[in-house]
Amino acid sequence: MSSVSALVQEAKDFIRDNWSKGIDLAEWREKVVDAKWAALRWPVDSYGRGLNDEEAEAVEAVFSEAGISGPGQDKFNLWAGTLVGFGTEELKQQYVRRLLLDEVAMCLLYSEPGAGSDLAGIRTTAVRDGDEWVINGQKVWTSGAKGADIGMLIARTDWDQPKHRGISFFYFPMKQPGVEVRPLRQATGDSRFNEVFITDARVPHANLLGDLNKGWWVLQSALAYERAAMGISRRGPRGPGGATSAAHGSIPSPDLSLVKVAQQAGKSNDHVIRQKLARLYCMRLVNDWNGDRAKAVSEAGGSSPLASFGKLAMSGILHYAGHLHSELLGAEGALDGDANPSARDANYSHLNAYFTSIGGGTDQIQRNIIGEMILGLPKEPQLDREMPFREVPATARK
Ligand SMILES: Cc1cc2nc3c(=O)[nH]c(=O)nc-3n(C[C@H](O)[C@H](O)[C@H](O)COP(=O)(O)OP(=O)(O)OC[C@H]3O[C@@H](n4cnc5c(N)ncnc54)[C@H](O)[C@@H]3O)c2cc1C
Repeated sequence: MSSVSALVQEAKDFIRDNWSKGIDLAEWREKVVDAKWAALRWPVDSYGRGLNDEEAEAVEAVFSEAGISGPGQDKFNLWAGTLVGFGTEELKQQYVRRLLLDEVAMCLLYSEPGAGSDLAGIRTTAVRDGDEWVINGQKVWTSGAKGADIGMLIARTDWDQPKHRGISFFYFPMKQPGVEVRPLRQATGDSRFNEVFITDARVPHANLLGDLNKGWWVLQSALAYERAAMGISRRGPRGPGGATSAAHGSIPSPDLSLVKVAQQAGKSNDHVIRQKLARLYCMRLVNDWNGDRAKAVSEAGGSSPLASFGKLAMSGILHYAGHLHSELLGAEGALDGDANPSARDANYSHLNAYFTSIGGGTDQIQRNIIGEMILGLPKEPQLDREMPFREVPATARK
């Protein structure tokens, strides 16, 4: 028997022996993780099986054909994926299993009031003190910071290096004195993101991911996970969370069918509406194919700007779907609240589309990446790129 057929058989046997219809999903997830089916391409000592692409896809097909969740965390679990790629053995031992089981609440401490698109301009500072680093600064737009156990933090560890080179990446404990989290209210009415003020808080040196002052490269890997997930996640009406949307708060894919809305509104025979519905369908289909291309490149070990393409396309799709939903509802779309669920969902979709067009890097930034990395256009001029960060005028410090 080939290694692929043996694996397929093993996966089928596992499902037969462990899965049952009413099984508690947390219990199922634990079985999947402990039997190392959750992250097939990761190394064996990180709850993976070290499979190549062909083997992993064959196993994934067994689960998806049975309609059962299980594998896939190696593609979308940015928290554990970043740790597996860059963490120390102790840190992996401590967190990988718990992250795969969703037992650790995480957040991303990247953006600052003066550094969003230009993340290399961060000013939050880490200063070494024995076996620890002392952190001071402010982060903003931090989804899920309230209640988070760990933040993936970028902080400046060397002000004398150029902006991209003096940054380090930490697994930062959130529940400690010196970390103040203040929720922000969003246009949707949700309060999923926060300001985080950090004053003399501490993080062990052992929680450094990657090399000191090389955090920019760890960040690129973490951002690629995030963009890939956002490129395929069809964020829609409000609801509880799902694993792939973990980074920016959690909203599941909508199962809302605009065709059904069109039928209910008596507009499903309108030619223009039919064209728009077909257009939306095609945009989604093409983006799914793009997602497959990006996945194939990243699974072959490359990092792909195609993830930017997918994220940008998904942003367009979500805006288009929000507009179309409102158009289908007509004047009723002006209503809101629980008494008008369809209008409420349309309004929410409209506003929430900005989630994908801003979070994880704005549409304009994705276009820059596509221009430079896919179309081969010249890079934007960056006058501060090679100077020591301390001397960059806007950020100069005493
Ligand atoms: C829902 C949501 C959740 C978020 N969650 C998190 C989180 O958990 N953690 C976190 O760290 N951050 C998070 N963010 C922050 C997000 O990553 C930033 O908002 C984003 O990167 C943009 O940064 P900024 O807001 O500082 O805007 P700016 O960078 O100030 O940009 C302002 C405008 O200028 C444009 N622009 C800037 N530079 C260029 C350029 N070079 N070329 C062309 N146009 C440019 C931008 O596209 C934008 O339109 C979240 C944001 C949202 C909306």
